[in-house]
This record gives sequence, structure tokens and C-alpha cells, in this order.
Amino acid sequence: MTHTSPVVVIGGGQAGFAAGYHLRRQGLGFVILDAATAPGGSWQHMWDSLHLFSPAEHSSLPGRLMPAQPGRTYPGAGHVVGYLADYAKRYDLPVRQGTRVRAVRRHGDELLVEADTGTWRARAVISATGSWSRPFLPAVPGRSVFTGRQLHTVDYRRPADFTEQRVVVVGGGNSGAQIAADLALDGRVGVTWATRRPPRFLPDHIDGRALFDVATARRRALDAGRDDTGGVASLGDIVAVPPVRAARDAGLLQVRTMFSRLTAAGVRWTDGSEAGADAVIWCTGFRPALSHLAPLDLRGPRGRIPTDGTRARHEPRLHLLGYGDWTGPASATLIGVGRTARDAVREVADLLR
Ligand code: FAD
Repeated sequence: MTHTSPVVVIGGGQAGFAAGYHLRRQGLGFVILDAATAPGGSWQHMWDSLHLFSPAEHSSLPGRLMPAQPGRTYPGAGHVVGYLADYAKRYDLPVRQGTRVRAVRRHGDELLVEADTGTWRARAVISATGSWSRPFLPAVPGRSVFTGRQLHTVDYRRPADFTEQRVVVVGGGNSGAQIAADLALDGRVGVTWATRRPPRFLPDHIDGRALFDVATARRRALDAGRDDTGGVASLGDIVAVPPVRAARDAGLLQVRTMFSRLTAAGVRWTDGSEAGADAVIWCTGFRPALSHLAPLDLRGPRGRIPTDGTRARHEPRLHLLGYGDWTGPASATLIGVGRTARDAVREVADLLR
């Protein structure tokens, strides 16, 4: 079945919803196609104890503040899911759940958006598919010989799944720190945390609020041709949310440098030392989920699509929203995506008028 919609948003996570909010305000016709069967984007799949790295009011999409979660400064993922479901209702966002887009193609003046359940003809497309569906695992020797379990951040749920086991957590970012802390605080799991360089905790009083300001300042400096301020990375990598701080301060985080290979029974470092492991959890990041855009043949270096702001440089009818700083400062965060979505929708409105 073929439908027509001036604008098609692909992906119904926070980025797609922020786009929807601004499309409504601009009075443009649109539909949001989302592969998931329920609203909430990737927040539906995160581990039980996850803490956002900013308080609720600093984790809000445009138009509606996220309410505080009773008893917690840093909300959990379930709270975000509830907020997003409520947000879609409040702004009456036309979301079609269970609609996976397979391909976007050029067709004269239009773009054809081909999904499992039908095809949409659109004059502009905003792609907001996130990166959760593309976990990245580094090519570390021995990965195929290790006989234990290998998981990625996307597979981790709770410490009870590892009781009495030896677990190596890999990665010095927020996911690695929070998962290592979660396991260590449980007390029934042997945890080694392997990071390429010593973990860099942000000062305890700094959280996502400051990170957003720093990312914005960096973007402005670069856009104005000034020196790179170093952005968020210059401050540190890990927000010391309460469980991370507790595990760190109690000396429970056993940190080692990154191992050089996996063996059948565990991991080995360059100095020959070894640690047995029942499981390795790779907290090693994500790549943008862009395979549906392959027919447009837009990919540049490192698998990314070159953009000016959010607009694809070689396809002005296509915008990319929410994948990371390359599509707008802090645009892969709740608070950051609103501004980028506003700018993207303004450009779409200009194009359509
Ligand atoms: P997603 O939430 O992944 O949503 C994308 C949607 O697109 C999904 O619903 C998916 O089903 C759908 N989709 C994908 N492919 C298709 C397709 N082909 N067709 C149709 N639909 C499709 N940010 C913060 O602001 N604060 C935090 O504390 C914070 N903590 C984080 C902790 C972790 C562990 C991670 C991984 C990220 C965290 N982030 C945080 C970053 C960021 O907010 C999330 O990555 C966010 O979920 C990105 O939103 P999104 O809408 O771009 O993508």
C-alpha cells in the first residue's frame, strides 16, 4: 500500500519525537514510522539500575519538562519510557509503531520510504533511528576462542544474571562504569573492569547539565572558526552518578588496562598475566543505524553520511537527527536533541514552502 506524507520521520525515539514536536508547531503534515511495538526508543531496553546522567528537568524534550522521579535525583530508564509515551500522547504525534523502514530511495521530486507495512511518498525525510540496534565490538584477538559468554551493553540487565561468576567489563565510558559498579555493588560477582586508559571521572559535582553546555560551546567555537575547545572529552568521560561514586569510593572497582587478547578461559594482558572469566561484557559503544539509507549512496568516511548541520550534504531532502555531535551538539541526548530538531524542521519547512 502506498501513502503520501509531506514529511516522514523514521524512528520514534526521543529524536523522532522532538522532530514531531517541531513539525507540529510548523504545521507540517508528517508521520513517524517506528520499528518498535511500543514508544520509548532504546530506553526500553536498558539495564534495570541505569541512572540518567542528568536530573529529570535537565533531561527534557521541547515543550514538556520531564517530571522528577520520586526518591531519585537521576531518573531510571523506565521513567524515561513513561515520559516519552506521555509526550507522544500530549502532542498527538502520529506514530506508527511496528513499522520498520527497509529503504529510502529517490523517485523524481520525492523520496520513497519503503517499510514492511507499506511505502510512503515524501518530500522530505528525517532519519532518527539512533544507534542501539548497531552495537560495536572491537576486533580483539581471541574473541572466537573464548568459551564463556560475550555480551554487549545492549544485552546486560542485572547482576543476578552473573551470581558467583567472574565477569570482565570492557570500556571506560559511562556504560562500562555503571555496569561495572552495578556488578561490584551486588557483592556476588567477581568483576574486573578493563579500560584502554585509566578511567576519567568527571568531578562529582558535574553532570549532564554541564556536559550539554560544554558541547554547545565547542560547536559554536568550531562553527566560528575558533580553536577546538576539546568539548566534553576535555573534562572527563564518566559522570559519577550515585552507584558509580559509591562503588568507586568503596574501592570496589578493580580497574586494569585493556587486555591484549581473549583465551579460551579468560583474558590475557601483554605482560603475560591472565584472569579467568565466565563472561565478558563489551561496553564499547555503537554505530549509527543507517542501513535503510544505503540506496541513496551517501556514506562518507567512517560510515557516516556527511551533513551540513543535520542536512545530508548530497541529498537536501534528507536530515539526520540524534546520532551524535556530528549531527548537532549533544544531539544524542534528551536535552540536546530539541534544539537540533528545531533547526532541522525549520530547514524542512523552508524546503517545502
Ligand atoms: P533511539 O532511542 O535508539 O530510538 C530510535 C528509534 O528508531 C527506536 O524506537 C527504533 O526502534 C527505531 N528504529 C531504528 N531503526 C529503524 C528503522 N529502520 N525503521 C523504523 N524505526 C527504526 N542521554 C541522556 O540525555 N541522558 C542520559 O543519561 C543518557 N544515558 C545513556 C546511557 C546509555 C547506556 C546509552 C546507550 C545512551 C544514553 N544516553 C543518554 C544517550 C541518548 O539519550 C540515547 O542514545 C537515546 O536513546 C538516543 O535517542 P534516539 O531517538 O536518537 O534513538
